[in-house]
Amino acid sequence: MTITIAGMRKRFGQTEVLRGIDLSIEKGELVALLGPSGSGKTTLLKIIAGLEWPDSGALNVDGQNWLNLAAQDRRIGFVFQHYALFPHMTVRDNIAFGLSVRPRAERPGKAIIAAKVSELLEFLQIAHLGDRYPTQLSGGQRQRVALGRALAIEPTVLLLDEPFGALDAAIRRDLRNWLRSVHDATGSTSIFVTHDQEEAFELADRVVVMGEGQIEQIGNADQIHDHPASPFVARFMGATV
Ligand code: ADP
Repeated sequence: MTITIAGMRKRFGQTEVLRGIDLSIEKGELVALLGPSGSGKTTLLKIIAGLEWPDSGALNVDGQNWLNLAAQDRRIGFVFQHYALFPHMTVRDNIAFGLSVRPRAERPGKAIIAAKVSELLEFLQIAHLGDRYPTQLSGGQRQRVALGRALAIEPTVLLLDEPFGALDAAIRRDLRNWLRSVHDATGSTSIFVTHDQEEAFELADRVVVMGEGQIEQIGNADQIHDHPASPFVARFMGATV
């Protein structure tokens, strides 16, 4: 899916959180939204997901106006920090969740859901964990299950908000490589939010640097490191290296 955002603005009370965002993301791209806390990254992701609505601006996906589409009609998979796994459900049931709550007419049969979940467990390399509950898993394993839940609906767009935020450095590195291969294998268009430069530059095809509700620069590691487009980008890159 090609995602086109134009002139997007959003305010919460007195604060203008998005101040005119223009961004195009090509089908199959893996893009990072990078910026300090409070720069509007999560708000932009939520608008794409259909969890927030902008005050003005356009969101088109493959030419279709997504602002007229409810969240459940957008075929989006998301891994947001606060959408934790359901603690009372096994890993299998967590992954099946997105499929079993589909409208009846679109809902696959039980056997098909079970087969799909088994396939995903293999793909995510957690086949041995299917009957466990979330509290019986490590942080890295839980993130894989969260991603499994997002992938179950075969999303065309995958949105991830600080997907490895709470994990330690070695596991982050592992999961990063693994996410890249999952992205490549599924062919989805993926956007992830991070405030971690290393993570953004290692994983993404393109990095979108945000500051105070605006896009400051879009590019790859070399472009942004060697030619920061504004004093803000130069400071941000310097400050957190
Ligand atoms: P980031 O993901 O870059 O940290 P956010 O998009 O989460 O930034 O937040 C941008 C700003 O919008 C912050 O100042 C935050 O406090 C504010 N904000 C986000 N969501 C809400 C909300 N639902 N109500 C009021 N303010 C909000």
